[in-house]
Amino acid sequence: MCLFCEIAAGTIPSKKAYEDETVVAFYDIAPQAPVHVLIIPRKHIESAQVLTETENALLCHMFEVARSLAVELGVAESGYRLITNVGPDAGQSVPHLHLHLIGGKTLNWNN
Ligand code: AMP
Repeated sequence: MCLFCEIAAGTIPSKKAYEDETVVAFYDIAPQAPVHVLIIPRKHIESAQVLTETENALLCHMFEVARSLAVELGVAESGYRLITNVGPDAGQSVPHLHLHLIGGKTLNWNN
């Protein structure tokens, strides 16, 4: 099972920020900013590159969760970044689709 599948299943511990039937959000182990949460689907999808129309509702829900967490974590007004890395050049280190929700400071374009 992949690392994020194990986190979603609870067999590898994480600090959860949110979870429901289809989506899990947890705090990044190596935060790049005061707020750094990862939002993942429970379903194993390798990256955004292999998304299909089947995942339309799931993807929309991931963004809904991100929006709610941004409010909850106090960055909705100050602003935040949603990032999904795809493949080696982007530095994708875990081959399971995830949105990084990053905020709580002024972000440079190169971070
Ligand atoms: P990416 O490099 O875009 O694939 O992002 C993977 C992210 O997962 C990195 O920011 C890591 O710090 C984070 N990460 C790796 N292992 C864990 C873990 N066990 N718990 C929480 N975050 C993790």
